[in-house]
Amino acid sequence: MAVSIVVLAGGVGGSRFVLGVREAARRRWPSDGPSGTSARIAVVANTGDDLWLTGVRLQPDVDSLLYALAGVNDVERGWGRAGDSERVADELRAWGAGWPWFTLGDLDLGTHLARTGWLREGRTVSEVVERLAARWPLGVRLLPMTDAEVDTHVLTASGRMHFQEWWTLHRASLPAIAFENAGIAAAAPGAGVLEAIAEADAVLVAPSNPVVSIGPILSVPGIAEAVAAAPGGVAGVSPIIGGAVVRGMADACLATLGVPTSADAVGLRYGARGGLGAYDRAALPGLLDAWLVAEEDAALAAGLEAARLPTAVRPLWMRDLDSSAALAAAALDAALG
Ligand code: GDP
Ligand code: CA
Repeated sequence: MAVSIVVLAGGVGGSRFVLGVREAARRRWPSDGPSGTSARIAVVANTGDDLWLTGVRLQPDVDSLLYALAGVNDVERGWGRAGDSERVADELRAWGAGWPWFTLGDLDLGTHLARTGWLREGRTVSEVVERLAARWPLGVRLLPMTDAEVDTHVLTASGRMHFQEWWTLHRASLPAIAFENAGIAAAAPGAGVLEAIAEADAVLVAPSNPVVSIGPILSVPGIAEAVAAAPGGVAGVSPIIGGAVVRGMADACLATLGVPTSADAVGLRYGARGGLGAYDRAALPGLLDAWLVAEEDAALAAGLEAARLPTAVRPLWMRDLDSSAALAAAALDAALG
């Protein structure tokens, strides 16, 4: 039986890790098929970042994963399509439509139009993502965490705004009081999500933003419970290295929840399997069989082990495909035992 892997992932950080997982699987379980590996890889993607803008539906994290896996992403800029132009965005700005600070590339808008059209025709989000993913041989199945619209909003002293506005316009500088995903308590997991987790030999939690990327995934009722009950091993990778968020502003999200920006605090929030986690509602099942922290955080390992969270110290920097693949291989080792 081919090995089966599930990854929970956000956008840019998630993409780097997922590319590493695909590469590690190709090296460890090679095959002649189009994916290059006999391993089956499913990625459960955060859809909390999704939004409606100028009449189209955007899925920033899904698209980051899609473009990166297809090899059509803009590596320099870190988001969007390579070689994109902005003619439509200029025109929208001239109309005063949308957000002038939120640029949508022309090729990217093609994706949003296709997606919106299919949604309008009555397709579910899972069906639409499957259709988008069918354009390229990604080598992984891309599964949105839910079909429900549960866009992340941020409550601040200046009002409630979409996460994208708080993050991109305000650069996470307005103190956030809370992150909200209205309707998520009634949302169901996306098509195939629970099945993929239930048949996985390894479940990996990517080093994505624990609050606004992994947080929404775990808040969809049933997903955290499925991970906690998974027959395979569960390993998570710290997005915090040496007490700092590596790229981005995730510390502003952690601060809102009163969680220190440290690899041990994030690991203990996910919690050890058999114990409790604190990543969403109170008293949730712990998720992890293993937690990977950076060499810079080696001193935290003893405390984590004392808290019954098995911890491995590994290089956590994803600088290129090789370092991402090495990190993914270490996470797979930890999960497969
Ligand atoms: P987003 O949705 O585009 O914000 O991306 P994610 O949520 O998937 O990932 C963002 C997080 O990835 C950041 O908060 C960083 O802490 C983490 N990150 C980025 N690069 C690296 C890296 O090279 N190594 C590790 N361990 N974490 C990283
Ligand atoms: Ca994101």
